Amino acid sequence: MKYYKDFADFLAEHFDGKMQKLSVNAGFTCPNRDGTVGTGGCTYCNNQSFSPEYCRPLRSVAEQLAEGKQFFARKYPSMRYLAYFQAYTSTHSADVDRLMDLYHEACSVDGVDGVIIGTRPDCMPDILLERLRELPWVMVEYGAESSHDTTLDRINRCHSWSDTVDAVVRTHRAGIPCGLHLINGLPGEN
Ligand code: SF4
Repeated sequence: MKYYKDFADFLAEHFDGKMQKLSVNAGFTCPNRDGTVGTGGCTYCNNQSFSPEYCRPLRSVAEQLAEGKQFFARKYPSMRYLAYFQAYTSTHSADVDRLMDLYHEACSVDGVDGVIIGTRPDCMPDILLERLRELPWVMVEYGAESSHDTTLDRINRCHSWSDTVDAVVRTHRAGIPCGLHLINGLPGEN
């Protein structure tokens, strides 16, 4: 018996067949690196460690997705895909139209049914939440990491737990599914 809903169960509530996340790197930066809220980044951050080889921002979003699809399509011809804007902070741009162009480009790729956007909880303006509803399907994944502000300070997140609560409430109100990334066992936590 499962005591929680895992990610596959969640996706099965939204899609009929098997879904695969495909990472894309759209060349975003991060407000905790470019000086918007900080410069040093989170203490554990190494984006290279979770970016597949095909995810190079010199290539378009559509090109990256096409290459990512090839890897799975041979083995699972009926597989459908969700474009995963994973690297750095995938809503960090003052230009909402530019962001929407990138998300729409991902959704225009054959076999891609929607997007999952990874971002920080202090980086989701209401105007973007409103626009995201234009997409065929979208989910937002927020890096929460911990619910303790002392831990967030220690790992230099440069946002608070209340930022996370606020982002989740606003995202839910917009009717958009969202998830949190949490890190178990951070220093000082049991
Ligand atoms: S918010 Fe994300 S991309 Fe930015 S420094 Fe922290 S872990 Fe790295």
